[in-house]
Amino acid sequence: MNFKLCTAIALGTLAGVPALNAQTTMESSYAEWPSYKGDDLELVVDKTGTHFTLWSPKADAAEVLLFNSDRNTPATDTLAMKRSENGTWRVSVPEQLYGKFYTFVVTADGKRLAETPGIWAKAVGTNGQRAAIIDFATTNPEGWEADRGPVVENITDAIIYEMHHRDMSMHPSSGIVHKGKFLALTEPGTKTPAGASTGIDHLKELGITHVHILPSYDYNSVDEANLPSNQYNWGYDPYNYNAPEGSYSTDPANPATRVREMKEMVKALHDAGIGVVMDVVYNHTANNDDSNFSLTAPGYFYRHREDGSYSDASGCGNETASERQQMRDFIVNSVKYWADEYHIDGFRFDLMAIHDIETMNEVAAELKKINPSIFVYGEGWTAGASPLPSEQQALKVNVDKMKGIAVFSDDIRDAVKGHYSDARDRGFATGKPGNEETVKIGIVASTAHPQVDYSKGNNAKAPYAGAPTEIINYVSCHDDLTLTDKLAASMPGSTEAERQRAARLAQTIVFTSQGTPFMFAGEEVFRDKKGVHNSYKSPDSINAIDWNLKTANAGQFDYYRNLIRLRKEHPAFRMTTAEDIARNIVFDKVTADNVVSYSIKNNANGDAWKEIKLVFNGGTEPYTASIPRGEWTVIARDGQIDPDGGLGTIKGGKTVVVPCSALILAKDK
Ligand code: CA
Repeated sequence: MNFKLCTAIALGTLAGVPALNAQTTMESSYAEWPSYKGDDLELVVDKTGTHFTLWSPKADAAEVLLFNSDRNTPATDTLAMKRSENGTWRVSVPEQLYGKFYTFVVTADGKRLAETPGIWAKAVGTNGQRAAIIDFATTNPEGWEADRGPVVENITDAIIYEMHHRDMSMHPSSGIVHKGKFLALTEPGTKTPAGASTGIDHLKELGITHVHILPSYDYNSVDEANLPSNQYNWGYDPYNYNAPEGSYSTDPANPATRVREMKEMVKALHDAGIGVVMDVVYNHTANNDDSNFSLTAPGYFYRHREDGSYSDASGCGNETASERQQMRDFIVNSVKYWADEYHIDGFRFDLMAIHDIETMNEVAAELKKINPSIFVYGEGWTAGASPLPSEQQALKVNVDKMKGIAVFSDDIRDAVKGHYSDARDRGFATGKPGNEETVKIGIVASTAHPQVDYSKGNNAKAPYAGAPTEIINYVSCHDDLTLTDKLAASMPGSTEAERQRAARLAQTIVFTSQGTPFMFAGEEVFRDKKGVHNSYKSPDSINAIDWNLKTANAGQFDYYRNLIRLRKEHPAFRMTTAEDIARNIVFDKVTADNVVSYSIKNNANGDAWKEIKLVFNGGTEPYTASIPRGEWTVIARDGQIDPDGGLGTIKGGKTVVVPCSALILAKDK
């Protein structure tokens, strides 16, 4: 998430926020608050009735308000809750209140706070203001019990495709009926006017293994009561963490609809062999004093500065306090819930370094118990200073202290395409010298390698990953310029064909590097965002992918599809230990600028190919490479790629690698 975006969102909530009752002494005393380990928080419906349990240790009183509809109606009943064990309040009724809605009202420090659906609302009505009581058994699509995501032995076997629901389907060329909805990815057979596959068929054709969906929990910014206004938002403004976003459902007023439709999306993807990764944003909430956390247990869930104001490592006006037991348990139990109820296959943690290492380790360990194929990765940075000591933060440089967690490599990202914050800055693939060593750091997934000199790295100055399974490689994502726009900004005067060559070289470096590749949806058709770098609330005219590009840029799509197939068919690109990488990857001595040349030897990781030779020429001059003796199959050359070897063979000796291209050769013996 780009912090610039939510600074703007949060300004309204920041202005004039008085210090909470959270002095430094208060901050430390939060650790003394009792925590509650039960799995019955907030709502349970069973044969004996409906049971409400709210955790709010310092509340003076707590009530449940019951309603007949999701908004605009008065409460039909108010239930006073009674203080119970470990900071909880409880009340029960003997009826099963299916179809009703509820909110909690907490009185704290003598003040009756505003209504809240609580922090564990699993079903909600319009705009998530009231929690709903529904029977989840009725929300399961046909065949849900047998639904399974793809088996993933190592995260490095995954190919991650980051997408927003509206980007994928809103453009008229998608041919999709349920545009901008969860259901968009359940429609088979959708095509562009020119007959190119779109939607889920497109994903299958491309060959990615997992979609990473931008925030799909209930977020704050889009008015679900006014969907025809077609608002767009990335969704990094969490409201209800445990219910799906209503604007992606066909009927936000019906609490079961969004649940069922999100499950139908997951099932359709699973049936296509594709896993679903959720982007989760536990590091901050959309609101401060008005958030569901604040209205449930004021103060507790957030970190504060010494003056009692909200600390703000998210750049969004607040940051949560994962080191406190009840917040840690909330995060762990929330992701477990999504994995259990929605069969989610992976989680991407926004601004993960706001969370502490212990929490992230517990997240990964608990998820693996549910499904060993689940993987977790995140942004190993914050968007501002945090009171949490840096040695406790889930930072990129601390990734090796976290078992089963991967971090995004900003090293490879900025080295290949140029710095993210300077549109015109070039990188290795666009002819700027000096990035060679950082590209090598990317190739070895930031692990220790005898031929990589980390002192010459642009960002990291030492190896920080203990294994390639700890690294996510990418050259663009929803944040900042798309690769297409970045290339346009940094290559003035270039032709589109030249920029597409640069994109091919950039992604070839990513997809052949050790670690896990990640791509932004639509780059395979050379989509752009009209130069808008922070499109978090830009209209569909900026964000929606024009699928006519799939035909216009058919060569680009074919290149990406074959690049993905190359990686999937060759385990040499998917080694799992630093030792294997150090043993099997041998870099060639190169004196030319903007050239990296290396071999993957020894039938690495069980590969059928004995040796793979890769030469990347990001410069403007032809490079004459020395190829070892033997008969080599040409896999990629001069902007073309064919994993089946259709580009012919060459003998060892001198061969020219033209500017802005990758040469990949393979030999069986
Ligand atoms: Ca919402």
